[in-house]
Amino acid sequence: MNLKDKIRVVEDFPKEGISFKDITTLLQDGKAYKRAVDLCIEAVKDKEFDIIIGPEARGFLIGAPMSYATGKGFVPVRKPGKLPYETVKYEYELEYGTDALEIHRDSIKPGQKVLIVDDLLATGGTILSTIKLIEQLGGQVVSVLFLIELEFLNGRDTLKDYDVKSVIKY
Ligand code: AMP
Repeated sequence: MNLKDKIRVVEDFPKEGISFKDITTLLQDGKAYKRAVDLCIEAVKDKEFDIIIGPEARGFLIGAPMSYATGKGFVPVRKPGKLPYETVKYEYELEYGTDALEIHRDSIKPGQKVLIVDDLLATGGTILSTIKLIEQLGGQVVSVLFLIELEFLNGRDTLKDYDVKSVIKY
């Protein structure tokens, strides 16, 4: 099965010039979704980690099934105002616009080994801010895993100090 065939590419969404990789078509195909999650788990099988962290919303779609399959906990990183308890916050820029992310202050214990997962690596801005949040709480990022990598945007340069893995490349 070629997973790339399951991804719908929508041109000029959410604005002109963006070639949007729509994974909803992959997710709605049970075999393809399972294969994608299995390949994500395979990509980090040599890594030791205590917990999985994913930014909303598509990071949850990859991170939560990986968490279930590996038996490791899952910590959500969310847009401001969504998490109910005390949070730490970080502001960042994306391929389109700016945003901020929050994490619960007590979600990571100092020294914990963290695996970060997200659906797609574009510029790397989202994940760099997620890393800042994790490191602020004393977590150690052991690897950063993406289902999709847009290689032409060189997001790996932004994340050059970290181990970066991806399953599907454009
Ligand atoms: P970035 O911070 O630039 O790496 O952007 C990462 C986030 O924005 C990813 O988690 C995606 O959900 C979303 N994103 C950015 N560019 C695209 C794209 N071309 N297609 C689909 N999602 C994208």
